[in-house]
Amino acid sequence: MLGDDTDWGERALCRSADPEELFVEGAAQHRAKALCIGCPVRLECLSYALDQRIEHGIWGGATERDRWALLRRRPTVASWRSLLEAARAEHDQQAKALHDYADGLAATG
Ligand code: SF4
Repeated sequence: MLGDDTDWGERALCRSADPEELFVEGAAQHRAKALCIGCPVRLECLSYALDQRIEHGIWGGATERDRWALLRRRPTVASWRSLLEAARAEHDQQAKALHDYADGLAATG
């Protein structure tokens, strides 16, 4: 199921889950998506599914419909992995800046 750049699969939260739980339909998908909350490799999983155009199952907390919407909205993305990693880095940088700012405010009392 996984390709060459997928050592992240070893850290998947669902590794010990029944794979069938991630390939469900309808309302059961909400329960399946909950499995992904807190998964340390959610970005890698989602980007893999987007880059590989995987059509079925829950990947990175996204249903096939969620992924289809992303692909439709951003048809020119060459690498979802690169795009999402850049977004995560930017988010982390902004969170650090906010944290530093709050620390500065606390220090000046
Ligand atoms: S994000 Fe969800 S489907 Fe992907 S590896 Fe983690 S638990 Fe499994």
